[in-house]
Amino acid sequence: MYTEAFREVLDETCELVKRAAHPRRGTIALSPEVAAMLKDEMVALAEEVAVCTRCPLHKTRTQTVFGAENFRADLVFVGEAPGEEEDRQGLPFVGRAGKLLTDIIEKGMKIKRSDVFICNVLKCRPPNNRDPRPDEIEMCEPYLVRQLEIIKPKVICALGAHAARTLLKTKESTGRLRGKWHTYHGIPLRVTYHPAYLLRSPGEKRKTWDDIQHVMRLLSGEE
Ligand code: URA
Repeated sequence: MYTEAFREVLDETCELVKRAAHPRRGTIALSPEVAAMLKDEMVALAEEVAVCTRCPLHKTRTQTVFGAENFRADLVFVGEAPGEEEDRQGLPFVGRAGKLLTDIIEKGMKIKRSDVFICNVLKCRPPNNRDPRPDEIEMCEPYLVRQLEIIKPKVICALGAHAARTLLKTKESTGRLRGKWHTYHGIPLRVTYHPAYLLRSPGEKRKTWDDIQHVMRLLSGEE
């Protein structure tokens, strides 16, 4: 049995090891112990989200949509909230907008969807896909904060106004926020249009491709 003091020292040591290991990811692999610790934290968080009743959306959801896939990804996409198909499957971006996001990642960026992490500001579907309400965002945001703390990606890409405004604490529009770098707790963040908006306004795809190219350049160290 660990004493309280020993437990504290152990926790602090784990935290220091994780912080030291993260910046070297990509060049030196995480040790199996650190990788296992991160996985345990993510699994514990996913279990917490799965039974969340913090806001009324738990009454209408089929299931929560935690996020997928790679919790050690260099790149995290943050969307708005699950839609009907996501609520049915329990996975993010698997409907029409999801197909477009997958094409952007796999055909455009030439990386596997399974190599990035995709999640949303809200983990439950708002009825009839209405916009997230401020109180729902406030209740759910700590889960997103924890996810980003655990993953510590090299880059975050915010998809649309709700993700951008939540992460950057602003009321600005996507149009005004895109086209430049922001930072989220020291992590470079790029804002681009939400894939659902691109389906309605295909003329804006060129701008999104421009945003994505900046993300790719940052990932490859060119920017
Ligand atoms: N739109 C989102 O913002 N997230 C999803 O998971 C699906 C559609």
